[in-house]
Amino acid sequence: MGSFCTAVNCMDGRVQLPVMNYMVASFGTGYVDSVTESGPVRYLAECQDSQQAKSILERVDLSVDVHGSRTVAIVAHHGCAGNQVDKKTQLVQLEKAVKYLKSIYKDIDILGLWVDENWQTQQICKS
Ligand SMILES: [Zn+2]
Repeated sequence: MGSFCTAVNCMDGRVQLPVMNYMVASFGTGYVDSVTESGPVRYLAECQDSQQAKSILERVDLSVDVHGSRTVAIVAHHGCAGNQVDKKTQLVQLEKAVKYLKSIYKDIDILGLWVDENWQTQQICKS
């Protein structure tokens, strides 16, 4: 089995390849497990008891426990249909989502990624 990392990404088609390419290039992992939701940072930052947040965590559990992923990225992006707040608010949600994931996955590197208006991926925070 090759090595895996994990992306908790938006379902938006425009951000799939930018995030996947960034993670393969940055971590040299063979495969990126994709956990998609619309605007996942909102659920993990502000609605942690929601069905969506629970579903995200169930799928991250599989990636970590079965695939042995040691790096989990959570993604926010420009023009998100599922989370129509400004960039500043999204970046606050991103930081909170990273902290929330770290509180659950203490031994895993958790990254906060932003995909900008040119569909470039940048790392905003890490825990
Ligand atoms: Zn989105």
